[in-house]
Formats: sequence, structure tokens, C-alpha cells
Amino acid sequence: MSDVAKNLQDIQDILDKTAAKWDRESTDIDLIAVSKKQPLDRVVAALEAGHRVFGENRVQEAQAKWPDLKSRFEGVELHLIGPLQTNKARDAVALFDVIQTVDRPKLAAILAREMKAAGKNIPVYVQVNIGEEEQKSGIAIDDADAFIRDCREGQGLDVVGLMCIPPAVQQVAPYFALLARIAERNGIKKLSMGMSGDYPTAIQFGATSVRVGTGIFGARSNL
Ligand SMILES: *Cc1c(COP(=O)(O)O)cnc(C)c1O
Repeated sequence: MSDVAKNLQDIQDILDKTAAKWDRESTDIDLIAVSKKQPLDRVVAALEAGHRVFGENRVQEAQAKWPDLKSRFEGVELHLIGPLQTNKARDAVALFDVIQTVDRPKLAAILAREMKAAGKNIPVYVQVNIGEEEQKSGIAIDDADAFIRDCREGQGLDVVGLMCIPPAVQQVAPYFALLARIAERNGIKKLSMGMSGDYPTAIQFGATSVRVGTGIFGARSNL
């Protein structure tokens, strides 16, 4: 078995155990393998091990590998988990199956327009700047409810979830709990939160997908 296949299995085991511990169904939690800046052979190893749900954070980098991989492996579900510039919206709509980083009105409007033009309605997540950090993307907490409403009613986007990247602090749980509350009051079922270092905590607080990169693939190259 490849290292990648073993890591996938180990993490899935922890995911299953953590779900059971907190009285959740592990089938309600997707493991998104974050393949950004990883050598292609490791990504192929994950695909060969049967894994199908992947995350990339840059449109251009994803375009360089995923059209080919999608044609070789059936059933891939590719999530955009990094900031999206409006001039890349058309390319993102063409390639990704889920866009997790809708975080401002202008982007929402352009995505809606590009999806209409492409005859698609790709599921999206609204990214919330849950730690109110200046350098991070995401809609401000105070603006989240109105923005979610506008994405849905104004733009006709299929908002299925919320996504966040909490601040780099010891105690991330309060941020996960807050994202869950914002989702609940907006009738949103999915929560993308938790990475290699904190996915068990995210599962405890309701994550329906966790985004794990280094834990599966090892260290990233600094391409
Ligand atoms: C890179 C990245 C991840 C994965 O981080 P790891 O620490 O390698 O698990 C998760 N989410 C986002 C948004 C990322 O950019």
C-alpha cells in the first residue's frame, strides 16, 4: 500500500471514531483531500486508492492537472477552497464541482452570471471570516446573514454550506461553534471546517466536510 493510501485509511479511521464519539454518522462527513502543491504521483496514488473528493485552492494550478485526472478517473468531485478572483470565475465554473469560497457580492453576481451562461448551477459555500482577521478572506460575520440571503434570493445561487478557516490559535472550537450557529439560523446544512491539525475538533462541532492536505499527502512543495 502507498503511504498516501495508508494515510487516507488512518485519517478515515480517526474520522469514523471521532464521529462515533460525538454521536454522528461518519457517512455525513466528507474527507476532502487537499492536493494543492502536491506532486502528481501522490495525487494519483489517492485516486488509485479509490479516493474521489479533492480540494484545490488555485484555479490555474487545478487547471493544469484536473482535466486530465478527471478524464482518467471517474466520479471525481473537485472543490475550490481558495480565494477566487472574478476574472477566474468562468474557468472555476468550468472545472470545479463545488465552489466553497463565495465571500463578496461582486463575486456572487459574476458566478451567478457565469453559471447561467454555462447552463449549470454549481453548489456553493459562503466563506465566513470567522476570526474577523483583516488578512483573511470571507464575508464579515455581521454581514453574513444578509449576504447569504442575497446569494440565494438575489443571485439564485445554490448555497449549500458555510466554510471557514479559523485563526491560528490554540482553541479553535469557539470559531467552529460560531460557524455552526450562523449556518443553523440561515437554514444551511453543510459546514466545511477543520484541516490536518484540527479536523477532529471540527467534527465534534458539526463539520460535514474536513479539508486535509499534509495529513494525507505529506509536506507541500513550495512551488
Ligand atoms: C491548504 C488548505 C487546507 C489543508 O491544510 P493542511 O494543513 O495541509 O491539512 C485546508 N483548507 C484550505 C482552505 C487550504 O488552503
